[in-house]
Amino acid sequence: MGPAAPAASTRVLALLGDPVAHSLSPVFQNAAIAALGLDAVYVAIRCDATAVGPLIRAFARSGGAGNVTVPHKHPAAECIQLPTPAVRRTGACNTFWQEHGELCGDNTDIEGVRHAAALLLPDLAGSRSLILGAGGAATAAACALMDAGAAGITVLNRSPDRAFALQARLDGERRVIGVAISTLQLQDASFDLVVNATSAGLRAGDALPLDLATLGSCAAALDLVYEPGGLTPFVRHARSLGIRASDGTEMLIGQGAAAFRRWFDAEPPLDVMRRALSA
Ligand code: NAP
Repeated sequence: MGPAAPAASTRVLALLGDPVAHSLSPVFQNAAIAALGLDAVYVAIRCDATAVGPLIRAFARSGGAGNVTVPHKHPAAECIQLPTPAVRRTGACNTFWQEHGELCGDNTDIEGVRHAAALLLPDLAGSRSLILGAGGAATAAACALMDAGAAGITVLNRSPDRAFALQARLDGERRVIGVAISTLQLQDASFDLVVNATSAGLRAGDALPLDLATLGSCAAALDLVYEPGGLTPFVRHARSLGIRASDGTEMLIGQGAAAFRRWFDAEPPLDVMRRALSA
């Protein structure tokens, strides 16, 4: 069992973003911290872009660490002294800590997508995927799919300019990313995996980002939006067409577990994290 309440020695980990009140990270990170009996506490702090750098430095220098969420992952990357390759690839940082006096940062969203996608399709080598969206989560998804050996990745975004920017950012690694500028281009196309990396589905009444029935075929669908119970509108839609689908809960756990390893150099209890999210 962990400490009953934070003490003077307690290490403070913070999630920085705006908004943060909806975040489930404190729920499953504190459950994992308690299960391992660590003297630490994880809190969420709403802050604006000007405060994110000073807060990251202050927490890290005082022995703390933490996560960064929308819209601050790019400003966070700017203030990191030792970025991982994941931060350099994406230009975004979602995890920070201090090591030997230096401020370190990682983007564990890539690991989160890899973890979630592997549960749906264990072998993504040679796969063809469609990513809906072109923001931070879509960039992490593209990196994860490239790392898994994807043969082709098509990006479709409401604003095509952002899809071309994503392609340009990662094109130097492997030229497997293409851009679709309209759903008409996707009619009858076949994909092993469709990833919803848009924010569509976060609010009740949001239109679906794509009618999957218009595709030629789709073996599996991964929604990065998460919802307690796992039945987001996109997951419900996919399953109604007989497509294997899951929401972003496992991505949340995967990125959080990778962050936990950076902070504590310990293996996080995934089952405890899952149980905390389903309670
Ligand atoms: P972001 O950088 O702000 O990008 C948002 C993307 O969604 C953009 O491509 C945007 O298109 C698109 N979009 C927004 N509203 C839309 C709508 N109504 N219809 C179609 N497209 C729409 O945000 P992000 O960080 O990539 O996050 C995207 C989603 O991933 C969010 O739902 C977030 O909750 C989820 N996420 C989940 C996890 C997890 O652990 N499960 C982690 C990170 C993110 P435009 O470019 O045209 O604006």
